[in-house]
Amino acid sequence: MPRDIRRVITGHNDNGKSVVIIGNGIAGITTADHIRRRHPDCKIHVIGRERYHLYNRMAITRLIYGRSAMRGLTLMPESWYDDREINCWLNTRAVGIDRKQRCVHLGVGEALEYDRLILAMGSTSFVPTIHGIDMPGAFVVREAEDAMHIREFVQEHGCRQAVVAGGGLLGLEAAFGMHQLGLDVAVLERGEWLLRRQLDATGAGILQNYLEGLGIGIDLKAEASALRGDKRVHEVRLKSNQQMRCDVFLACAGITPNIGLAKDAGLASNRGVVVDDHMRTADYSIFAAGDIAEFEGRVSGLWPSAVEQAEVAAINALGGDARHGITAQETMLKVAGIHLTSIGRFEPRSRDEVVIAKLNDVKHTYRKIVIADGRIVGAIMIGHPMSAPVVVSAVKQKRDVSGDIDALKAGDWSCLARPATRGKRQAEQKVPLPA
Ligand SMILES: Cc1cc2nc3c(=O)[nH]c(=O)nc-3n(C[C@H](O)[C@H](O)[C@H](O)COP(=O)(O)OP(=O)(O)OC[C@H]3O[C@@H](n4cnc5c(N)ncnc54)[C@H](O)[C@@H]3O)c2cc1C
Repeated sequence: MPRDIRRVITGHNDNGKSVVIIGNGIAGITTADHIRRRHPDCKIHVIGRERYHLYNRMAITRLIYGRSAMRGLTLMPESWYDDREINCWLNTRAVGIDRKQRCVHLGVGEALEYDRLILAMGSTSFVPTIHGIDMPGAFVVREAEDAMHIREFVQEHGCRQAVVAGGGLLGLEAAFGMHQLGLDVAVLERGEWLLRRQLDATGAGILQNYLEGLGIGIDLKAEASALRGDKRVHEVRLKSNQQMRCDVFLACAGITPNIGLAKDAGLASNRGVVVDDHMRTADYSIFAAGDIAEFEGRVSGLWPSAVEQAEVAAINALGGDARHGITAQETMLKVAGIHLTSIGRFEPRSRDEVVIAKLNDVKHTYRKIVIADGRIVGAIMIGHPMSAPVVVSAVKQKRDVSGDIDALKAGDWSCLARPATRGKRQAEQKVPLPA
């Protein structure tokens, strides 16, 4: 915490509360939005370390191959903040939280007082301990600037070969981004198949075939142990002792929530900052939402959860009573030509649970649902862009399909499109799903 505090900006305005939000990602800005909707007068300060207003973090791998830099990536015009009187501090770092004085210290020497503080600092890419990981040419991709640096580096050094460590969602999107930029790309996945958290072996096989068809190499059960080079990375050595030529190495090995400030302020944290179902931390006036928050032992790490948690935090920060619950997590991957959705539990837990799956090897499509106690609890949909939203919604509602299992097995999934409350008229209303 800086000792030399130049100015304390008092957040209290005549009409009441002052809310300070650290982090201007989706969790921070959604909180600011919901607070303003419910409280027209309170002072709202959002502190953001990055230089940009809220942008679509999920799409930053486009910055690797796209020629328009940030164009189209920012989500709201500047007027959005002005119209709502949301004070955004861009390119500004929060460096300390003083819970006694109820103020947040900024790296620029100022301090902001709060009645309610929202922690929305998100997470940082996990950097694996690989010898040489700090060499030029080794990257992570979490912020827009990271993706733009990769593009810059490739041009500056005429790079040809890229290796991506991690066959999860981010790793595959980044691999596709570098492939689009014209690099030869290989993905190292230490597990037995790609997207282990989202796909079963059959679904992952389809995805792998598709990516290999594009020219992206996939190495399963493969892990980097060291990076070598002179002034920059030129080679990756694997744990198997195999070597691969590499000009750009990208580590996509998961996330680490940014809990440093919260920990220093004495707030209970494990992997993330611990919150209850009101998104409240151990301190009554401090809430957390998004990638930084740990609820029931889990850090979600997903955009839709950040949005939901932020709304709950905003309502409760203003004295309301909203509760966060764990819903089935949905993952979507859209790389050119393949549409993949995974939600909930895609493996049965007992023999009583029903699994209905259909694979089309020729068209590279696959769909699978798991039914437990008559209710649909999870699904994988590959190559079914039209029907995926219907299935996702059925899983979110835990739709009772006990009367439809024969139809589902026969390939007629139209029952999933029926409204959830099945009155007589509604039950007759069939919305066809593409096969
Ligand atoms: C390339 C990529 C692809 C993804 N794809 C998907 C996807 O397909 N589906 C999905 O659901 N999720 C996806 N995610 C994850 C999703 O983007 C995150 O879950 C979401 O952005 C979390 O939002 P957040 O606001 O909690 O955190 P963040 O988006 O990380 O925002 C936190 C902000 O706080 C700032 N900050 C941190 N510390 C400070 C400080 N001390 N002072 C000031 N500011 C600070 C950070 O700089 C950052 O701008 C993806 C992420 C990446 C990187």
